[in-house]
Amino acid sequence: MFLEQPIDKLPSTSQTTIKRFKKIGIKTFFDLLNYFPFRYENYSLISSIEKAQPGEKLTLKGKIIDKKEERTKKGLRLQKFLLYDGTGKIEIVFYNQPYLLKVIPFEKEVSFAGEVNEFGKKIIMTPFEWEVETNIHTGRLVPIYPEKKGLSSRVIREKIFWLLSQLKENEILEIFPKEIVSYNNLLSEYLAYQNIHFPKNRELAEKSKKRLAFDELFVIQLSAFLVKKEWEKEKVGHRFLVSGKHLTRFLDFIKNLPFQLTGAQKRVIKEILNDLGKEKPMNRFLQGDVGSGKTVVAACACYLAYLNGFQSLFMAPTEILAKQHFQTLSSLFKNYPIKIGLQTRTEKINKKRKDNEVIFDFDIIVGTHALLNEKLKFSRVGLVIIDEQHRFGVRQRALLKEKGLNPHLLTMTATPIPRTVALVLYGELDISYLDEMPKGRLPVKTYLVPQEKREKAYQWIKEKIKNENASVFIVCPLIEESEVETMKSVKAAKKEFENLKKIFSEFKLGLLHGKLKNEEKNKVLLDFRNDKIKILVTTPVVEVGIDIPQATIMVIEAAERFGLAQLHQLRGRVGRSNKQSYCFLFTTSNAPEVIERLTFFSKTNLGIKLAEYDLQTRGPGEIYGEKQHGFINLKVASFTDYELISKTKNAVNYFVAHYQLSQFPLLSQKIKEYQIKQITRD
Ligand code: ADP
Ligand code: MG
Repeated sequence: MFLEQPIDKLPSTSQTTIKRFKKIGIKTFFDLLNYFPFRYENYSLISSIEKAQPGEKLTLKGKIIDKKEERTKKGLRLQKFLLYDGTGKIEIVFYNQPYLLKVIPFEKEVSFAGEVNEFGKKIIMTPFEWEVETNIHTGRLVPIYPEKKGLSSRVIREKIFWLLSQLKENEILEIFPKEIVSYNNLLSEYLAYQNIHFPKNRELAEKSKKRLAFDELFVIQLSAFLVKKEWEKEKVGHRFLVSGKHLTRFLDFIKNLPFQLTGAQKRVIKEILNDLGKEKPMNRFLQGDVGSGKTVVAACACYLAYLNGFQSLFMAPTEILAKQHFQTLSSLFKNYPIKIGLQTRTEKINKKRKDNEVIFDFDIIVGTHALLNEKLKFSRVGLVIIDEQHRFGVRQRALLKEKGLNPHLLTMTATPIPRTVALVLYGELDISYLDEMPKGRLPVKTYLVPQEKREKAYQWIKEKIKNENASVFIVCPLIEESEVETMKSVKAAKKEFENLKKIFSEFKLGLLHGKLKNEEKNKVLLDFRNDKIKILVTTPVVEVGIDIPQATIMVIEAAERFGLAQLHQLRGRVGRSNKQSYCFLFTTSNAPEVIERLTFFSKTNLGIKLAEYDLQTRGPGEIYGEKQHGFINLKVASFTDYELISKTKNAVNYFVAHYQLSQFPLLSQKIKEYQIKQITRD
């Protein structure tokens, strides 16, 4: 197992370099082989000096017949080499690399890859790479690697070149059956690795990338399939009865709701009822744009759980949202004998009891995502709802299992996830889409406001507050999210708050940020809700999901710093009643791509359209903030390559119909690695 050898075994490599490799997670030869270039420089044209033309990028080979150092007037040191190849001479000029005078010798054959330039009357070469007697850095499509922790692309290239030269064809095994390789017209694994690093031509580079992308998507989708199958073997404690008197009472409940459900809500409720009637636990992921009415859908599921004598846990990401859900559910169920409890850090349902007591007399327990970490013992949980979770999967299900629970599970998110992303990353889940807004909702009118129109916008907002009693959110600029930075953004918000107090001196303003105590947060929000505060200034962490229907104006500072999905979340805080709402994007940027992106946003009200735009132009990592939500970023494959995604999906189906995973140790290993990565990420 040559490839399993530790990276320390690299020959003629300094300890510093070895350490640096380890730092970026390259521990074995195989890891190194999987460190891919992100582009290539084309120096494959090898020319004679005589034929080299200014402007060309090419490789020249010959002998050094003179070398010297010169200083420019500005003190820059130039190293000049005179190269001769039998057809002519050319000067090769380096900047500030005096050591080259020692390492580039006379007598031996030297190659230079670079650009030919005119310098006054002279023709010179500005080199990109050079080498003596080897054939790694010049005369080819030269791979460029991401440089990290002091590792240069040149060093990485050299080591990988050595590694590939040691590899025999039988040392890189196919991870799945040969017929999948041939059916999909894929390069062999061996050729793919050779050519992703040192491609003979562009076409081969593309084909290797495609092969490795195929592998990547195959592993992720097979993993999802296996997880799903594993889950399907599980059984819920008791099946929910969805017919007879339960159904009658359920339909009555729907009829008595304060509003009529949208078509999409009805459809999704049907999908959920269908799941709930089964013995295997539901694993449904509900995607619905902000304001599409997910809460009431979840409430319906809770009601059915109640009718069947089961408890529901309803979890939200923050205390404020938990409290809001508690209030919403209490009001939806006010005419029903359903007992609802709120359990957060500050509100305990078992205040008066001993700790660890079995909680049995609540039908619905609302809490934060931490609910499952609490010492509460649940007795008859049949349904778990997780709200505003961008990601759900292997880990949460495992957590529930640890608690001895195997309930039906409904996860909800307002972060729109493009269908291809969902298809790849959430293959183990059943997905429902709420793609319709409640009747009468008006799209939020969105404007991009350049700096010079700021005053006018403030003036307009003042009029709206005076004449129409509008309530206003003002979101402060987004600053990085680490702990230190949180302090910075709180500081920025406080400063902006003081500034805005002067501008809007005739109105009452409130400030909301993450460092406020919960009671303070609740008070500010309550005042805003009750119209005692007209303008709420907040850090960008405005709690997702806050529902304050009379707020009709949203102002977002430094809008260019947000991804479209985030902007959409923020905008979703208004437009929650039948009044016309407005969103103002302030920006000081003039960059064309910023203006284009924000203009697109101002014209588009559908979350999913925005997510797809972001995916096309910025990549998924940037839409969601990889760290923030734990999305796995693809390494070689792309979420926009729908064709490859569907091909790999078919290949997975073929594989599971004909083979056992255990027949493919390498694949098993990859699946295991992927699953570990998934669990340890969030
Ligand atoms: P989200 O999907 O963003 O969580 P909510 O569940 O908070 O949305 O619902 C947004 C608002 O719309 C709430 O005030 C809710 O009462 C209301 N609502 C939900 N469904 C309907 C409907 N079918 N008709 C009218 N209003 C609705
Ligand atoms: Mg919500």
